Amino acid sequence: MTHKHVIGIDLGTTNSAVSLWLNGHAQLVANAQGKLLTPSVVGLDDSGNILIGESARQRLQSHPHLTQASFKRYMGSEAQLMLGTQRFRAEELSALLLRQLKQDAESALGEHVHDAVITVPAYFNEIQRRAVKTAGELAGLNVVRLLNEPTAASLAFGLLENREQKYLTFDLGGGTFDVSIIDMFEGVVEVRASSGDVMLGGDDFTEAICQWMLDQHPALRQRLPELKPALHAQAEQLKCALSSGNSASAALEWQGQTWRWTLDEAALAEYCRPLLERLQQPVQQALHDARFSLHDLDHVLLVGGATRMPLVRQTVARLFGRFPRHDLNPDEAVALGAGVQAGMVMADVAVEDIVLTDVMPFSLGVEVVKQQYGQIEDGFFLPLIERNTFLPVSKMKSVSTVYNNQSQVELKVYQGEGRRVKDNILLGEMTVSVPPRPAGEVSLEIRFTYTLDGLLEVECSQGEGVEAARLVIEKTPGQMSEQQIAESLQRLAALKQHPRDRAENRALLARGAKLYSFLLGDERAWVDEVMSAFEHALDSQDARIISQMREQVEQALSRFENGVPQ
Ligand code: ADP
Ligand code: MG
Repeated sequence: MTHKHVIGIDLGTTNSAVSLWLNGHAQLVANAQGKLLTPSVVGLDDSGNILIGESARQRLQSHPHLTQASFKRYMGSEAQLMLGTQRFRAEELSALLLRQLKQDAESALGEHVHDAVITVPAYFNEIQRRAVKTAGELAGLNVVRLLNEPTAASLAFGLLENREQKYLTFDLGGGTFDVSIIDMFEGVVEVRASSGDVMLGGDDFTEAICQWMLDQHPALRQRLPELKPALHAQAEQLKCALSSGNSASAALEWQGQTWRWTLDEAALAEYCRPLLERLQQPVQQALHDARFSLHDLDHVLLVGGATRMPLVRQTVARLFGRFPRHDLNPDEAVALGAGVQAGMVMADVAVEDIVLTDVMPFSLGVEVVKQQYGQIEDGFFLPLIERNTFLPVSKMKSVSTVYNNQSQVELKVYQGEGRRVKDNILLGEMTVSVPPRPAGEVSLEIRFTYTLDGLLEVECSQGEGVEAARLVIEKTPGQMSEQQIAESLQRLAALKQHPRDRAENRALLARGAKLYSFLLGDERAWVDEVMSAFEHALDSQDARIISQMREQVEQALSRFENGVPQ
C-alpha cells in the first residue's frame, strides 16, 4: 500500500483502543501488556514518572491524588485536574493517553504514524469536538476525521454483514449513551438519526449501587469522602459480578470492622430503575427523527461495556420486543469502526464501495430578539440547522437590525433544542459592525456550514455588494488558545516518562518479543537473555546505560532477524 498509515482511535471515558486497517480489514492493536483495551487512566508514580493505562488504573484507589480517570467528561471545559501538585486540562491528560496509543500502533507497524481518525460521542458539542482535535494535536497526531462513536460501531457492523438492512445501534459506555439509526443499502451506510444522553453511562449504575450499599449500612455515610474510592471499587465489582450470576457479595474493612453486602438482581433493578427509564427517551427521539417505527428495524445492535448488564439487555428487549444482537465485542466495536474509517481515508480498495453518511445530532442556531405585543424581548433561539440533518450541510437565514441606528450586532451561536437560548449551550459569540440606519433596514445573512467532522463554520454577509466575511467564533468558552497549546506542548514534552514507556524502547521490546516467539531452542533462550539484560538496563532509569544497551541489543537482534516474517 502506498498510502501512509492512518490509525483509528476510540478515546473512551473508561477504556480506549487503537486499530489499524491491514490486509482489507480493521484490527485492534495490543498494548505493551498484550491487551486490546487501555484503561483511560493517567497518573504519576512515586518518582514523578507518567503512568498510563493499567499501571495507572491499579493506583486509582491507593493513590487517588496522583491518578485521574474519566477525564473525558471534562473535555472542552476549563476544569483543572490535579496529579499531585501539577494541574492538567482534560485535553492534556487525553493527549498523554493518545500519545501512548499512537506509540502502540507504531510498535505494531514498525513505522511512524501521524494521521488518525478519532471517535467522539455523537452528542459531543462543538467545543468538546474541538477539544478532542486539540488533544490529538498535543499528542503529535493530525486528526483527519472525527467520527461519531455509534456511527463507528455501525460501520464495523455494516461491514460484517454487508446487505440491505435497517438497524439501531445502542451504545452505553462508562459515561455516555448514544443511539443511532442506520439504513444500509448497496454499500451505503446511512445514519438516519442520532440521539443520546451525555450524562448517562455504566458509571451511573455503579453510583446507584454505592447508594444501595450506603442504605444497607448508613453508618458508613459519616466518613464518605474517605471511604468513597474503596466503596466505588466494591460497587463496580458487584455490578460486573451480577452480569454473570444471580447474586454477588462484597466486603469492606473499616475501623477494625468488616462491612458485608449481598446484592441480587431485584435490588439492583429497584435502584437502577430511574436510569433504565432514561434509556427510552433517546431511542424514541431517534426513531421519531428518522421517521422509523420499531417494526422498520431489522435488529438492534448492542455496543459499550455497560450493555453487558443483563438488566440493560432486558430493558432493550422489552423496549424493542425482540432480543438485541451483540455480534461485535461491545468494548471493541467503536475502535474497529474507527479502523474501517481509517481504511476509507487511505482509500483502500477493500472499502472503496462503502459510502458513509452521517447526521448532526443537535440543532444549531443564533439568538434573536422578538417583537411581540409591542415589546422587544430577547433570548429566543432561531435554529439554522435542525438536528438530524445529513452532513455536510450549509444553511442560511437573514436577520435584521431591531434598534434605530444600532452600530453593531452581537451574534451568539447556540446548540440545543430549547425555544429560549438559556436552555441551550452557548458555542461562541462574535460582534459584527453594521452601518447605523433605522431599525430593520440593515439585514445580515448568516450562513452555517457544518462539516463531516461535526465542526461549524460561520459566514456573515451584509446584503448585496458587500463581500461575505468568514468569521471566527471568538470567545468560545472552554477552548484552548494557540498560545496555551504551544505552552502545553512544551510542558507535556518535559514530563518524565519511564524509560520502559519511551517509544524507542517499547519498539525494541516489541521487536524482541516477536523474535522470541519466532525462534526455538538455544536461539530463543539467547534472545530471552538479551531482552532480560535490556529490561534490567531500563529499570536503572539511567539514560547513558540504556542507550548503550539499546545499541547492543539492536545489533544482537538484527543478527537473528533474517528470515523472520514481517
Ligand atoms: P467507554 O466507552 O466509556 O470507555 P466502555 O464501553 O468500555 O466505556 O464501557 C465501560 C462501562 O462498562 C463501565 O461503566 C463498566 O463498568 C461497564 N462494564 C464493563 N464490563 C461490564 C460487565 N461485565 N458488567 C457490567 N458492566 C460492565
Ligand atoms: Mg465507548
